[in-house]
Amino acid sequence: MRIAVVGAGYVGLVSGVCFSDFGHEVVCIDSDPDKILQLRQGVVPIYEPGLEDLLARNLASGRLTFTTDMAQAVDEAEAVFIAVGTPTRRGDGHADLSYVMAAAADIGRALTGYAVVVTKSTVPVGTNRKVAAVLREANPQASFDMVSNPEFLREGAAIDDFMRPDRVVIGTETERARKVMAELYRPLSLREFPVVYTGLESAEMIKYASNAFLATKITFINEIAALCERVGADVKAVAKGMGMDGRIGSKFLHAGPGYGGSCFPKDTRALARSGQDHAVPMQIVETVIKVNEEVKRRMFLKIEDLLDGRLRDRTIAVLGLTFKPNTDDMREAPSLTLVPALVGAGAKVRVCDPQGQREGEALLPGVKWCDSAYQAVQGADLVVILTEWNEFRALDLARLAKRMAVPQMADLRNIYDPDEVRAAGFVRYAGVGR
Ligand code: NAD
Repeated sequence: MRIAVVGAGYVGLVSGVCFSDFGHEVVCIDSDPDKILQLRQGVVPIYEPGLEDLLARNLASGRLTFTTDMAQAVDEAEAVFIAVGTPTRRGDGHADLSYVMAAAADIGRALTGYAVVVTKSTVPVGTNRKVAAVLREANPQASFDMVSNPEFLREGAAIDDFMRPDRVVIGTETERARKVMAELYRPLSLREFPVVYTGLESAEMIKYASNAFLATKITFINEIAALCERVGADVKAVAKGMGMDGRIGSKFLHAGPGYGGSCFPKDTRALARSGQDHAVPMQIVETVIKVNEEVKRRMFLKIEDLLDGRLRDRTIAVLGLTFKPNTDDMREAPSLTLVPALVGAGAKVRVCDPQGQREGEALLPGVKWCDSAYQAVQGADLVVILTEWNEFRALDLARLAKRMAVPQMADLRNIYDPDEVRAAGFVRYAGVGR
């Protein structure tokens, strides 16, 4: 099949490369000419494990191409995917649909024959019908069906998630579009993946409800963690005991510094706004958003506590800045709240992240970037583990302690055993909820 993917970011690029690997002819379009130039040369502009190899393989096969020319890409495509960003609109918490609508108008003008137009971007309920209206307005003769096909991949494991999804959600209203979508995803059926066929609104809602539920689960355990600290319980044991209940499940029950990233913060805000617009306030989600901000603030207080309330001129090494390991994505990472607060309080902050520096340099002024954890902790009064990259999971703790002025650790991901840390020479250890 011939398909076009508009937007070559984390979702569009991974989808395009994977569809091409299934054997489809894929053209990826992006409005950023530098990105297209890089991709044509096989250079991946983001960090996503395995993507560079898969890109190279499919570029070489000739099935995958990149362009900024919408007309050429959309011509003869059987399906056109919209995978552009839907960040929070400045000021009101709504999803900013300007990129989606701009792409829709461009696609409308470029459509020649029948095509299925598929929204992969996360968009509020009702958006697919608005996209269809924009397409029709741009090209009253256009022959197309609208499909909502939200994406559930996780950055850092994106290829595997795309190739082996828990489910594929397809919102359609016509049999013709359903057949096109079934054919597109057919290569997956070898591994018996489940497809949920539904209407447009339900598909849109599944995505928001899923993300809001996961954000709620994380926030729930973070709140329990705060209480654990006061009552002498260990949230790791609590989460383990809870997670063994099949109705609860162990995933997303790891206490930490609060959720961040390119999806949960903006999607919870957009869902809360939708609820307000329809006079059905999403009270749980609104609380989750508020509590998550408190969780992030609590991390600052924890650090202040470890340093006996004095941050000025103290040296703090922060390990891990991206919102999670195995990505270079810094969007709404907890580090963007915590690090500026430490710098603002007068601390000398040293930072280290395996992939975050390119994005992070502009976002985190006033810090010193280091190449390794051992370099970052030299002479420090405290080491903070903020993102659990593998290389921070097996540090030589004794070596770390020896390099520090005062060996103290704030382990905001609970990756170390407190007794082991103390045995290695640390005088103080604080995790989350233990
Ligand atoms: P991104 O910012 O990485 O990529 C968006 C791309 O679209 C950019 O390269 C941009 O240049 C391009 N673009 C914008 N407007 C365009 C236009 N009119 N024509 C052509 N290209 C255009 O965004 P992302 O993280 O890939 O997210 C895309 C969508 O997928 C969002 O709605 C997001 O919520 C959703 N989503 C993201 C993830 C994730 O993990 N990142 C997971 C699931 C769903």
